[in-house]
Amino acid sequence: MAYFIDVILPIPVEKAFTYEVNIDEARFLKPGMRVAVPFGKSKIYAAIVRNIHQEHPVIYEPKPIDHILDETPVITTIQLQLWQWMSQYYMCTEGEIMRAALPRTFLLESETMIYKNEEVTLSDLDLTDQEFLIVEALQYQSQLKIGEVSAILEKQRVLPIIERLLQKGALSIQEEIYERYIPKIAKYVKLHSDYEEEAQMHELLDTLSRAPRQREIVLQYFSLKAKNNTPIKTTQLQKQAKATSTQLKTLVDKGIFEIYQQQENRVTFGDVQSQQKELNKYQQQALVEITESFTKQAVCLLHGVTSSGKTEIYVNLIESYLKLDKQVLYLLPEIALTTQLIKRLEAYFGDTIVVFHSKYSIHERTEVWYNVLNKSAKAQVIIGARSAILLPFQDLGLLIVDEEHETSYKQFDPAPRYHARDTAIMLGHMHKAKVLLGSATPAIETYHNAQSGKYGLVTLSHRYGNVLLPEIELVDIKEKHRRKLMTGYFSDTLLRAITDALEEKEQVILFQNRRGYSPILECLTCGHSPQCPNCDVSLTYHKYRDQLRCHYCGHHIAMQQKCQACGSAELSTKGFGTEQVETALKELYPEASISRMDSDTTRGKYAFEKLITAFEEHDIDILVGTQMLTKGLDFRNVTLVGVLHADSMLHHPDFRAHERSYQLIAQVSGRAGRTQKRGKVLVQTYNPYHQILQQVSVNKYNAMLDEQLEERRNYRYPPFYRLIKIIIKHRDYQKIEDAASWLAQSFKNTLQGVEVLGPEVPSIARIRNMYHKHIMIKLSRKQSSTAIKKDMLRVQTSFKAIAQFRSVRVIMDVDSYT
Ligand code: ADP
Ligand code: ZN
Ligand code: ZN
Repeated sequence: MAYFIDVILPIPVEKAFTYEVNIDEARFLKPGMRVAVPFGKSKIYAAIVRNIHQEHPVIYEPKPIDHILDETPVITTIQLQLWQWMSQYYMCTEGEIMRAALPRTFLLESETMIYKNEEVTLSDLDLTDQEFLIVEALQYQSQLKIGEVSAILEKQRVLPIIERLLQKGALSIQEEIYERYIPKIAKYVKLHSDYEEEAQMHELLDTLSRAPRQREIVLQYFSLKAKNNTPIKTTQLQKQAKATSTQLKTLVDKGIFEIYQQQENRVTFGDVQSQQKELNKYQQQALVEITESFTKQAVCLLHGVTSSGKTEIYVNLIESYLKLDKQVLYLLPEIALTTQLIKRLEAYFGDTIVVFHSKYSIHERTEVWYNVLNKSAKAQVIIGARSAILLPFQDLGLLIVDEEHETSYKQFDPAPRYHARDTAIMLGHMHKAKVLLGSATPAIETYHNAQSGKYGLVTLSHRYGNVLLPEIELVDIKEKHRRKLMTGYFSDTLLRAITDALEEKEQVILFQNRRGYSPILECLTCGHSPQCPNCDVSLTYHKYRDQLRCHYCGHHIAMQQKCQACGSAELSTKGFGTEQVETALKELYPEASISRMDSDTTRGKYAFEKLITAFEEHDIDILVGTQMLTKGLDFRNVTLVGVLHADSMLHHPDFRAHERSYQLIAQVSGRAGRTQKRGKVLVQTYNPYHQILQQVSVNKYNAMLDEQLEERRNYRYPPFYRLIKIIIKHRDYQKIEDAASWLAQSFKNTLQGVEVLGPEVPSIARIRNMYHKHIMIKLSRKQSSTAIKKDMLRVQTSFKAIAQFRSVRVIMDVDSYT
């Protein structure tokens, strides 16, 4: 009797591969365990057992496995089920999902390169003989392939040994990103111990009577101290006393102040209330309604205006599921943006929380994986961005998708191109769990599902503490230009409001949409603007580096003094980005502290957290930023939000542009006036009568929704139709022309009654030297998408069989967002 296993390999092959096992192995193995299997001529991969059976494959003679890697499954059966669904729905292979899901430690293969981890020194006693041999070999050779380790140890089964070494921290492997937790060091100031007594303080102030500036600083120190008896940061004192660091230093030199450093704990339990807050009556009502809705439906949408206190409702729900001993998954659009929230949740749930961060090292990822898999006490509440959906949950009771409208929930590159919200709903179904979707500006698709009764719907329309929603005013900049009331990018209205806010010591957020408004260089004589040699786009001017850069491939050149085409020196920069806004503001408000938050300034480690903290602590008066600013941040002291140019968002060529504009403006507005004083939002636009701007200015989400739904229905877009975008790429222009027409024609012939659009040249036709073409497929809700996707894959298979098209890349993007 022969035994076989089907395995998932971490490579994009369509079908599961079958290997032979002996009877003992067959008895020992369970789905979800890893086995090392030979593949091709000399490769060894770690593969996942899908099932164990006795059917000899028809077309090939299966090879025996190399060896078994796990004692117990590392993937749950529900995960295998989910992967199967994802691969079918998102038209990708299970191997691609496996690659995205598993920590790199689980994916060792013969080609994996290993290195010695210099930061960890293990004594020989910690190592077995074989482990020692590997570590020793790495002292002479900086890197080894796993295949080479086999030769050193003269044995085949080396993966378990390497895994153990990885767990001990002795090795590191290629492709891992190391991002370590860096404790935040802050500088604090205190009065020198000589002056601790009351009498000495008075004496000190007397001696300073002839140095009024210094006396003032000391007085301000006392006033800070009196207000809240906590350590005082140097920055805090400088701010309060309007003092420079030199002035502070003088006082230190005089022996009046002392400066000391202290590690700031990231999770500052001190200033967060670790007790749950009592819900107000609206929140309570919402909670009751959600619970009720869950008795009838698995999915519920919580539509709650910004600052209505959705988080506190989540916290209450989470607690009730923890009492039932269930796991909870809390999904967020981007983990880097949520230090604030994580602080709050950690304060409530302490050690039961694991945060899954895409920048974790492999060790940390592996640890999280095992914690979730074993349902250890540390992994009751799992917080993470998109990819946390792929963790090995044992017993999920509740999934929360916060800011469910965010487009970053959709993975674009590489495959699997899944939508984490939609996948969460499927995963919830598999666990028989409940799913709560939360947003102040729900995605049209989601709201439609709620309206049509597929999801429950709970609405929360009061801001916490009865704070009013900010007042949104549209500023007609066409008119302002005509009346010469513009100073650069700013209308007089906006400038006046900024000045007022600064005078009141309040903070300001200015929002400039990233898309379409990057500054480019243009010759005033001939109109030429420098292009990227690899992509069909103009280079963008980066003042800070004095460079012209391509946003698609990173190509850059020094700023040009003369036009490359005609030699003229009359060049100007057109368009404006956040950097331009920041520079202009600094000229207008030299006294204010101004910072910028965009993908440039948040690239470094913890750069984002630093900016947020600085803004929270009022070290920054005005924050200029892009999209990033909109994501659920809670600042107490912001009273004014300015949107500099709403039009660039509205006119983006994308069927979601109007919806997105509404969401962005509503969300960024939501950052204003979270305390008693009513916030103000000024939206500068050339088109103040635009429907969307009118709707957002009076908070008419439902009017926006009805109108957008009407358009989506008329033009056959989601939620009424499903979109599958096919992206075709190649270096050769002619080849891609032929390939795209062949594919479009075959889809048209094969897919009966389905709308096939294109091939079309996208707005950027060439990226990184690859030409692009798009085909769009629209399926009505009545058509079976499963059957159509199968037909599409069949077309793709015939396509791949054509020799001249073999090198053409074809990407299927189901429920496309781009
Ligand atoms: P949302 O996520 O709906 O925008 P948040 O959950 O951030 O709103 O709440 C807004 C603010 O109100 C937060 O600062 C939060 O601490 C506060 N808040 C919300 N609910 C309560 C409550 N029940 N008791 C005290 N403060 C609350
Ligand atoms: Zn020119
Ligand atoms: Zn480029």
